[in-house]
Amino acid sequence: MTRAVVSVGSNIDKESNLPAAIAALQQHDEITLIEMSDIFESPAIGGDYPPFHNAAVLLETELAPGELIASLKSIESALGRVREEDPNAPRTIDLDIILYDDLHSAELKIPDPHLDAYAFVAIPAAQVAGDWEIPGRNRTVAQVAESMAAGELRKVDMSDKKEISRDEAFEEYGATDESFNPRYEALVREQLEILGEDPERDGIKRTPFRVAKSMSFLTRGYTQSLKEVINNAIFESPDSEMVMLKDVEFYSMCEHHMLPFFGRAHIAYIPDGRVIGVSKLARIVDVFARRMQIQERLSNQVADALMECLDPLGVGVVMEAAHLCMLMRGVQKQNSEMVTSALRGSFKSDARTRSEFMNLVGHGLR
Ligand code: ZN
Repeated sequence: MTRAVVSVGSNIDKESNLPAAIAALQQHDEITLIEMSDIFESPAIGGDYPPFHNAAVLLETELAPGELIASLKSIESALGRVREEDPNAPRTIDLDIILYDDLHSAELKIPDPHLDAYAFVAIPAAQVAGDWEIPGRNRTVAQVAESMAAGELRKVDMSDKKEISRDEAFEEYGATDESFNPRYEALVREQLEILGEDPERDGIKRTPFRVAKSMSFLTRGYTQSLKEVINNAIFESPDSEMVMLKDVEFYSMCEHHMLPFFGRAHIAYIPDGRVIGVSKLARIVDVFARRMQIQERLSNQVADALMECLDPLGVGVVMEAAHLCMLMRGVQKQNSEMVTSALRGSFKSDARTRSEFMNLVGHGLR
């Protein structure tokens, strides 16, 4: 996960467009909002235009900078943003990446040069990322903000709540009649009714929406491909020692009961000329875990995926997991975990490799 700061600004229908942009960021599958600044009002620059509302958000994402820019652009166009010739023309919404991890790219304008120039960018950003050292500037966001005169910037009393919880914020910002996946939501409503609930009850009214959203996240493996996840992170290497990554946390859903099972994966391989970035091992587990699964198949798919993309001398995968379908239904009262393994190549054929692997894994077993 990478952190980024995004500035949000509007001077057309700003009372509804700014919150709608926050809600859209909130709904985005690959963006997690962590914090939002206060909302500030500031005069427009470069013309006799209505004043702006500005804010900044701190977010976490696995999107690359270019992908994040594209996502922000699509939110802008969904909110009716039209690009005019006059760069200062009023706009429904403006979403710009201010900071992205330690990226310093003149081409992408990250860090955003406006951070040094305008209080309406720096002051909200300092509220959510004050300690962030600006790449290439040798100063923190707070230091930049402090060096600026607030001028005509004034705080707008719209929200005293800066902490955003992923579930609540959507309602907080009002877009309550929005739907995420109408067909799935209708199904969940019916399910609630069949179970004996009143789907119109206040606390539960938005549940079909939330379930549709969270299910789409929990089963996102269906829409991911191994190739895009690996994204060229395979490197030539003469190493031929066992590479092992222990305790990769994973969450999956059992296909028999649609209940979660979750635990840790331990993954090892012996390279034959090619290695893969360590973080990608966890992403590969995720591609197969984020769908309906059985643990045995999940272990096999991870092992086969590594064989396919690295063509190594061998692969070993051990997964330990607790299954809620066993724990919650009382099939198994104690906190027992299920352990599965998948061995390929030398991990299968060579007893020494296998026992080296199992020894390494063994120390991780609880
Ligand atoms: Zn089950």
